[in-house]
Amino acid sequence: MNIHEYQGKAVLKSFGVPVPRGYPAFTTEEAIDAAAKLGGQVWAVKSQIHAGGRGKGKFKEPEAGEKGGVRIAFKPEDVGLFASQMLGNTLVTLQTGPAGRVVKRIYIEEGVKIAKEFYLSALVDREQGRVAFVASEAGGMNIEEVAHDTPEKITTVGIDPLTGPTNADTARIAAAFGIDGDLAAQCDALIKKLYDAFTKSDMSLLEINPLIVTEDGKLICADAKVSFDSNAEFRHPEWEELRDLGEENEKEIEASKYDLSYIALDGEIGCLVNGAGLAMATMDIIKHFGAEPANFLDVGGGADKAKVEAAFKIILSDPNVKGILVNIFGGIARCDVIAAGIVEAVEEEGITVPLVVRLEGTNVEQGKQIIRDSGLNVIAADDLEDAARKIVAAVKG
Ligand code: GDP
Ligand code: MN
Repeated sequence: MNIHEYQGKAVLKSFGVPVPRGYPAFTTEEAIDAAAKLGGQVWAVKSQIHAGGRGKGKFKEPEAGEKGGVRIAFKPEDVGLFASQMLGNTLVTLQTGPAGRVVKRIYIEEGVKIAKEFYLSALVDREQGRVAFVASEAGGMNIEEVAHDTPEKITTVGIDPLTGPTNADTARIAAAFGIDGDLAAQCDALIKKLYDAFTKSDMSLLEINPLIVTEDGKLICADAKVSFDSNAEFRHPEWEELRDLGEENEKEIEASKYDLSYIALDGEIGCLVNGAGLAMATMDIIKHFGAEPANFLDVGGGADKAKVEAAFKIILSDPNVKGILVNIFGGIARCDVIAAGIVEAVEEEGITVPLVVRLEGTNVEQGKQIIRDSGLNVIAADDLEDAARKIVAAVKG
């Protein structure tokens, strides 16, 4: 689950992490008020979307002006101007794709005088089984480029969960930034607070790019990208308000209502599968035969008819779907229940694309009978390979 920069900074601030002061705004008036409340002479006006690269992004609409999604204002009038240019317009960045995202909220921050920009992130390093910090003196730019062109500029420090960040760990990070003395001491305190925030808030990713040194020698988080681990949702009721459904995929929102594991993808073959492993294998074999899956979808073991029906409707509603592959291995899930859900969904929504069904396991005969009785035009398949070949042929042929 992703949240906006201003929300991420508020979370970090609650753990004592230094971030600039700021207020979110949904209207131009709120933006002007925010600048007045902040005072000072310089303000950063920042588009809030769930995608990075805003600084170098461009708005689609000419009336939004030439500047990017992060603008520096030297007069309160400019805060108002930038707010009116950003709000309601479409920001395209390297991460949004060409469609871009409509900016519906912005963040007004006190301007900071930047002397240096670093890159810092924390993530769950599955290989080491620990939280790791990734630090680089090459901040403010595209870290993927740094990793590719100058990998020696990136330092990864895994943190022992029993001790948390040690002084030796934070010293390595300070060394990666090329700082010492008081700044290294600030870095030590910062890393310990960030680690605390990361673990206690169940983050899966925290990226601070840039972490800045101000002209008066303070280490401050100038940007914050926070993702939470959705598996921990049950112990974070406070996440509910942080969620911005406008930034999430509609089909994924619908799927989450039914507790389906669904991820929208770019391909043309919709997949309805039970079991995450089987869903992965189904996606692989679709690719193997030369097509691309339109989604990952695991209806789960105990799927009832309503859940299957909802799942199938989500697939049917995807305009990119040119064919559907149902691949069910009935263990706990029963083939007749799955078949009934599919038939129900098709009766309500209709279906115009080819449908290949492979059913195997518990109650398979009853399942096949339900599909035969429905008169649905189904291409039957014997096994996974046969099913994949048939759906790819139907879509490509
Ligand atoms: P991103 O492009 O989506 O990652 O957005 P950032 O929050 O990282 O902002 C992009 C760039 O704007 C940063 O790398 C900074 O160089 C610059 N920036 C952000 N906030 C301020 C600020 O308060 N003052 C100044 N001078 N520059 C800022
Ligand atoms: Mn950034």
